[in-house]
Amino acid sequence: MTETQSSDIKSGRLPDVAYADNFSDIHPPLTPHEALVEADRCYFCYDAPCMTACPTSIDIPMFIRKIQAGNPVGSAKTIFEENILGGMCARVCPTESLCEEVCVREVAEGKPVKIGLLQRHATDTFMEREQAHPFTRAAPTGKKIAVIGAGPAGLSCAHRLAVHGHDVTIFEAREKSGGLNEYGIAAYKTTNDFAQDEVEFIMQIGGITIENGKALGRDITLDGLTGDYDAVFLGVGLPGVNALGLEGEDAEGVLDAVDFIGVLRQTEDLSALDIGKRVVVIGGGMTAIDAAMQSKLLGAEEVTIAYRRGQEQMNASLYEQELAQTNNITIRHWMMPKELHTESGAVSAITLEKSEIGDDGKLRGTGETVTLQADQVFKAIGQTSDAGPLAGVDITLEKGRIRTDEARRTSHPKVWAGGDCIAGGEDLTVVSVEDGKIAAESIHKALMG
Ligand SMILES: Cc1cc2nc3c(=O)[nH]c(=O)nc-3n(C[C@H](O)[C@H](O)[C@H](O)COP(=O)(O)OP(=O)(O)OC[C@H]3O[C@@H](n4cnc5c(N)ncnc54)[C@H](O)[C@@H]3O)c2cc1C
Ligand code: SF4
Repeated sequence: MTETQSSDIKSGRLPDVAYADNFSDIHPPLTPHEALVEADRCYFCYDAPCMTACPTSIDIPMFIRKIQAGNPVGSAKTIFEENILGGMCARVCPTESLCEEVCVREVAEGKPVKIGLLQRHATDTFMEREQAHPFTRAAPTGKKIAVIGAGPAGLSCAHRLAVHGHDVTIFEAREKSGGLNEYGIAAYKTTNDFAQDEVEFIMQIGGITIENGKALGRDITLDGLTGDYDAVFLGVGLPGVNALGLEGEDAEGVLDAVDFIGVLRQTEDLSALDIGKRVVVIGGGMTAIDAAMQSKLLGAEEVTIAYRRGQEQMNASLYEQELAQTNNITIRHWMMPKELHTESGAVSAITLEKSEIGDDGKLRGTGETVTLQADQVFKAIGQTSDAGPLAGVDITLEKGRIRTDEARRTSHPKVWAGGDCIAGGEDLTVVSVEDGKIAAESIHKALMG
């Protein structure tokens, strides 16, 4: 029998002033002077490895040179040519495992050029200073394309199609556009409603209409869209979250981490949010770190992340893991959830079992357990796809996600797809932006010959 304490979940754990501090910009922007000094550190490498590592192939040495020359607006245009969501990516990209990891100054000295912060400097300067959109549309083509989902993949695809002169209608199930940029990314990575500012910026190109509150499978069908439009792009993301598969999972206090973050992102008063005194997060990716970090920043006293494999296997980068640890979050590796304990319908503790790789190469429990008191348990063990909205149309799936070729074409001749909903993706904002861009170019080629 496990001894548990009664549940302690409440709002307002911190003094009012602490919330604004805790959820302020995690990487404050560079001042113009700091940006010039940082740009000076770049070697402007030929065949720059940073550029190869960028999923959207931004010409990084070129945009840094423009900052160095005192032209941040021109620098931003270089960025937007390849990545129209360059402002958000500057905030959320795990640069430590992309461009900055391979920067020659990282390799030689362990101190990369701060590419992410320089990108942010350029794009923020553009968006604050310039009234005009950086691109103009080509002559109207008369072609109509439906985009499903206004997340990074859908917005990127719509923008590139609009640049080519096509008319785009985005159907978005939720009230606000932006996808996980609006509902998922940690609050301290994207402050001051930046996700909505970016959507407005993208829309300035013209030729794009967004219909919010319209869901594929509920209000519209894929079959209908393929009849009414010249092409369709699916950027629906991953709507579900994997279950732990334990008894008591529907108990009060056992929550999807993505839902928790979504509520947090939409609240106007962080002090009004309920948070447990003791929080356990199950998972090893960015969502797990973000849920744990934000629990701590809301005032949870003990926050533990339990991950069933080792540090190297965690999807969250080493930088993200260290960030959690320096915020007094305990990460317990090789621990898998075994039993949820409840009292009067609410979770009170969770038993974890030590795990290891067996002789057959498979993960297994060792039998050794530990029980942690928990007022809240957040599930962050991966998101799941939903093929329901695709019903009635022959779209080939692979492990539940949509199968596409290199041009992001699905098995249906009029349907393309990209972002988290396709098989083989990396579930990163920047990769979704690239998918949208590739699909738009392929759609343009298919429609215009
Ligand atoms: C908690 C969390 C934190 C993350 N943090 C980071 C990070 O720091 N850095 C990073 O690079 N990546 C991060 N990611 C991953 C990143 O957010 C995703 O890879 C990216 O948002 C995927 O873009 P997308 O357009 O494919 O899907 P989404 O952003 O999920 O957008 C899909 C859109 O489609 C809409 N939709 C869904 N179904 C329908 C339907 N039937 N009809 C109409 N519309 C529909 C949704 O409402 C949504 O707006 C994070 C993910 C999570 C969950
Ligand atoms: S690898 Fe580093 S030094 Fe070289 S161009 Fe890229 S940012 Fe500059």
